[in-house]
This record gives sequence, structure tokens and C-alpha cells, in this order.
Amino acid sequence: MQELTHFINGEHVKGTSGRFADVFNPATGEVQARVPLASKEEMDAAIAIAKAAQPAWEAVNPQRRARVMMKYVTLLNRDMDKLAEALSREHGKTIPDAKGDVQRGLEVVEYCIGAPQMLKGDFTDSAGPGIDMYSMRQALGVSAGITPFNFPAMIPMWMFAPAIVCGNAFILKSSERAPSVPLMLAELLEEAGLPKGIIQVVNGDKEAVDAILYNDTVQSVGFVGSTPIAEYIYGTGCSQGKRVQCFGGAKNHMIIMPDADLDQAADALIGAGYGAAGERCMAISVAVPVGKETADKLIEKLIPRIESLKVGPYTSGNDVDYGPVITSAAKENILRLVETGIDQGATLVVDGRDFSLQGYEEGFFVGPHLFDNVTPDMDIYTKEIFGPVLTTVRAETYEEAIQLAMDHEYGNGIAIYTRDGDTARNFANRINVGMVGINVPIPVPLAYHTFGGWKKSVFGDLNQHGPDAFKFYTRTKTVTARWPSGIKEGGEFSIPVME
Ligand code: NAD
Repeated sequence: MQELTHFINGEHVKGTSGRFADVFNPATGEVQARVPLASKEEMDAAIAIAKAAQPAWEAVNPQRRARVMMKYVTLLNRDMDKLAEALSREHGKTIPDAKGDVQRGLEVVEYCIGAPQMLKGDFTDSAGPGIDMYSMRQALGVSAGITPFNFPAMIPMWMFAPAIVCGNAFILKSSERAPSVPLMLAELLEEAGLPKGIIQVVNGDKEAVDAILYNDTVQSVGFVGSTPIAEYIYGTGCSQGKRVQCFGGAKNHMIIMPDADLDQAADALIGAGYGAAGERCMAISVAVPVGKETADKLIEKLIPRIESLKVGPYTSGNDVDYGPVITSAAKENILRLVETGIDQGATLVVDGRDFSLQGYEEGFFVGPHLFDNVTPDMDIYTKEIFGPVLTTVRAETYEEAIQLAMDHEYGNGIAIYTRDGDTARNFANRINVGMVGINVPIPVPLAYHTFGGWKKSVFGDLNQHGPDAFKFYTRTKTVTARWPSGIKEGGEFSIPVME
């Protein structure tokens, strides 16, 4: 069986802790590799390497650092097929979806090519008599990122591309469930010209994460994953004096107004609800049709579309809509939540519980489910299911629909389908959710905007990528300079103010 490594100081390094996690092929259910889980000592050693390597990297001028990113873009494009295949094999998503995962990360790398512009600072000439004032953005030193299984390429790139181009060294603790692509991404960065020790991938679980959180060298921690872990990392990291940004779970609603094009809305719900087996933090998991007629018609349009979804392994090519979920535990959790939905009185309109795929009986496939008549007190509404299960909560009015979404504890993404500009505008202004789609089902912002939810979907101030990333991975230093000219007039004892 393949034994994966860490990527430390520019080399693939075997784990020494003696602890490993199984890496599955979710389509077959087979263990295809094992990944080492780092001990505190291994993590501390990697952080020490990062600390030693970082000052020389920060001293490289921003334009040269940006050139590494330029080269990196070329290499990512060159290896796109290889990366996508490795990603699908461990994650289970289809090849086109895996390419999208790489592409969305690559776009953040492209944005980072603009680092010289982003880092150039502010200057005030003659802020006072003979006084100049300038602010610069300096690297933090060593930064770390902890990432989830569901976007093994995009989310690590969200973090390490801006961190590195700003002059930091970066430790990536990627998901132990999909570890190969992050290792490949690190290797490619070095091929692009990054010095050794600036990107390191240390695989692991809670022990490795805690080693990051309690290591004084690490200045900032980024996290994306489930909300309980986000809360833990945010609380612990802040208490250790680090800069921390944590992104958590989601429950994204789509409000369908009576004036919406219902075919369009139904198509959008299928892609946004079932794509990647619902394992996206921006997946739509709650449909909120407004009015009985809208709801009845929408359900009628959804049923045949859901029943014709093709579920299968990525190796079946473009003929598959979505693949397996990540582990058998994830599958069990989804099916358990489906049972709670039935027990608590929701109507299971499309039942995927008996789904089985010939030749892949041991794979972690979950058939598509559709619930109607879901109410806000049910577990299938309050909890993140993270599977191919779409729930429908009927609302009588627009006000009821918007209030429903506003009251949910998560606030990552949301969409409204309507033909009415006034409703759309009112919605965008009032809703307490970070990313809003108007007739767009998965409103993931592009690299030069920022990505982030509200409420329990985020902990911290700054979003991922875009201008926020340059703020997160640097700190501001402001210099006030006066060069003496002529005779000194002696010390000043009161705070200088402008007359
Ligand atoms: P997860 O929280 O289980 O794991 C995320 C990371 O945390 C992994 O690297 C894991 O090794 C580590 N981890 C797990 N348990 C830990 C512990 N007890 N202590 C310290 N570290 C621990 O999340 P996941 O299952 O990999 O990913 C799915 C979740 O991520 C979903 O909730 C999804 O909504 C969320 N997500 C959110 C966003 C966003 O931008 N808001 C994006 C993608 C995924």
C-alpha cells in the first residue's frame, strides 16, 4: 500500500510518529494509501525550518516573489489533468469538478501576481515641517493553514498563495482524508522557484493542529472546516496571541419567488444541491419556495430532474453528475439525518436510501434525496447534512422566507430567484449572509473579491483571498521620519498637533 509523506524543507519525508490514517478511494471503499500523522515534535521541527528560511524569502523583492507565482500558474496548468485525477481518486468528485477545484485556486495564485501593487504601502510627503510619513506592509513570519477535505486544491491555495507572496513561510496542515494533492501543490511551488522551507506540508490530526496553535513562532492561523473545530481553533489561537481567521459550516438557502422562472430555479437547485454530492460549503441545502403554487410546481419540476441524476465513480467520465461522499462515516451520518427527517415528520419525496451501484457496492455512494414540508425545528434543517439531500421549507410570504434564513445560525451563502429588481435589491440589502446570489445559485466570489460568510460560518474579521488576504498575511508599520536640517531646537515635550 502506498505510504504518503510530509513535505518538509523541500523533501518528501516519511512520518516518524508511528501514527497513520487510512486514505480511502471513496468510489470503491478501498484503502488506497496511508498518511502519516505528525507528532508535536515533527510539527515543531518543520516550524523551526520555516522560521530559519523566512527572513531570506521576505528579503526577496515583491516582484521576484510574484514571478514565482507566475511560473506556478504555468505549472498548475501543465499538470491540471494529473492534479484533477489525484483529487478525484481521493475525494470522489468528478473530473470536471476536480478541475474546477484546481482552477479556483489557480485564480487566487493569478491574483497574487499583483503583490507588488498590493504591498506598496502609503506615503505622505511633508506630513509636517520636514516630516515624511510612510506605512508599509510587512510579512508576519511563519503562517499556518488547516484545511478541509472538500476542496483539497482550492482552499490550500486560498491561503498559501497570498501568505507566501507577502513574504511569509507557510505550514499547511491539510485534510488527512485527501492529502495527495496538497503535497503535489507544494512540490510544484518549489519547481516554480520557491526556496526550500517556505512551503511545507505537515500531515496530521488534532495533535499536529495543537502543535501549531501552541507554537510561539506561528504568527497566524487560517482554518476552513466544520464550525465546532473552527470555534476551537479560533478560541485557542487567539488566546495564544495569534492572528486567526476560521471558516465554518453552512446551511445555504435558496428563496424562490412566485415570479421566478421555475425551470431555471429547478435546474439551479439540482446543480447547487447535488453537485459534488452536496459536499460544498456553498451547496444549496434548503429550498424556500414562496407561496403554495410556487412550492407545488417547484417540487413537480424537481422530482424528474433528481430521479435522472447519474451517480457514479469519476472514472465513468463526463456521464456522471456526482460521485461518492468522502467516508463511510460521512455516509452513515447523512443517512442517519435522513431518518431523523422522516421521524420528525418531513415528507421524503425522493428517497435515495436504497441506492446501490453495481460493481461499487462498497463505495460511499449516497442516492439523491428530496424532502418537502420541512420545518425549522427539524434536525435536517438546523444541522449541516453535507450530502445530496435537499430540504424544502415552504414559506407563505417573502417576509417569512427572508426571516427564516436570517434566523438560521449559519450565514455562508444564499440565493434568491426572482424577476423583480426591487425584491432582489431589498433582499441583498437586508439579508445577514456573507455571499448573496441573485438568480445565481452558488455565489462564490472571484479571486479579486473576498470569500467569507457571516454568523457561525466565520470567526475572525478578514475574508479569504482578494484584498483581505494581503491584510491578513501582513502587518502595518508606519514610519514618521524627519531628517534634521540646520540647528536642532531641542526636545519636544507635548504631543505635536497640526495648527
Ligand atoms: P473538519 O472540521 O472535520 O476538518 C477540517 C480540518 O480540521 C482538517 O484538517 C482536520 O484534520 C482538522 N481537524 C479535525 N478535527 C480536529 C480537532 N478535533 N482538532 C483540531 N483539528 C481538527 O472539516 P471537514 O469535514 O474536513 O470539511 C467539511 C466542513 O468544512 C463542512 O462543515 C463545510 O461546511 C466546511 N467548509 C467550510 C468552508 C467555508 O468557507 N466556510 C469551505 C469548505 C468547507
